[in-house]
Amino acid sequence: MEFRKKTLTEYEKEISAEEIREEKEFHRRRVRNFKRMLMVTFIAVCAIPVSMCTYLMIKMNRLDARLEKLVDRVEEGKTFVDSENTSPNDVAGTLVSEQMAYGDLEKGTESEGIRVTLTDSKENSDGTHTEDIEDVEGDSQDITEQTYYNGKKVYLTFDDGPSTYTGELLDVLDTYNVKATFFVVYNDKEEVQPYYQEIVDRGHTIAMHSYSHVYDQVYASKDSFVEDVEKIHDFIYDETGVDCRFYRFPGGSSNQVSKVDIQSLMAYLDEENITYFDWNSLSGDAVDSSLTPSELNTNILGYVRANAGDSVVLMHDLQNNHATIEALPELIQTLKEEGYEICPIEDDTIPVQHVQYTGEENP
Ligand code: ZN
Repeated sequence: MEFRKKTLTEYEKEISAEEIREEKEFHRRRVRNFKRMLMVTFIAVCAIPVSMCTYLMIKMNRLDARLEKLVDRVEEGKTFVDSENTSPNDVAGTLVSEQMAYGDLEKGTESEGIRVTLTDSKENSDGTHTEDIEDVEGDSQDITEQTYYNGKKVYLTFDDGPSTYTGELLDVLDTYNVKATFFVVYNDKEEVQPYYQEIVDRGHTIAMHSYSHVYDQVYASKDSFVEDVEKIHDFIYDETGVDCRFYRFPGGSSNQVSKVDIQSLMAYLDEENITYFDWNSLSGDAVDSSLTPSELNTNILGYVRANAGDSVVLMHDLQNNHATIEALPELIQTLKEEGYEICPIEDDTIPVQHVQYTGEENP
């Protein structure tokens, strides 16, 4: 009985030692599991959000950069954000307001009876000009040929010339083997007279932009408009022998200064087989003569890139627009690199027109 009792106690002790071991083991396992859970929780609570945050930060920075570029682009191209579904004429339509600003400015200048072209502003010294040309030639070594064509044409057009800068402008165009279009006016300065012929001789298109360019005279009546067109046509013919059939309305076809219905003026041009051209790209050189060459090009390229089709670029050949000439080398180079073909306006050129001729004259 005693033996049995003793054995039982020992047995109970053994069992209890076993239980303690198991319990310890069980606790160790729990601690291990708890640590593991703690680790997983830490990763879940800290590491995942941190990496998510990092990812989102990177993504946000990229989107921010893209947004900035888009905003720049919108500012450059004004209203031309969505170019894919826009026809050149639609684009031209949206330029009307832009042109108004320019028209108003021109009107302001002329209402004082002063043509910017004809005023006696100071010229730069010859030294400055020579340096500019040398720079241009230095940059132009490798860009005389174009290897890639993106299917779109760009027509560079210069209004209001000739000026004392026309020779320099023609030199730059020659250097880059580019032909342009000059919408000229009458200029009585003796030193600019040879430029009418030189524009033609160097392979550019000469076109009419009115004789006087004084809005109050050109648009006073249909008769005065007709007289003005005839005068510039005959003047160009006498100077160059070219029977010119291209016209650009001073202020564009959408100008708000004409006292006569523009349709009746268009009817006259149509009778005379004269095609009028507006523009769907512009540098803004007439709006603000303080714009730098790079700002002018940013403006032009914004429009050109946004245009779904061909681009007609409005620039000015004026005495206070030397930046326009300085901007040309980089503009031409960029256009060629991006695959645009630079052409002069010719008989088969599809015109960009802000206001279409409807064939009906309003009373
Ligand atoms: Zn003009």
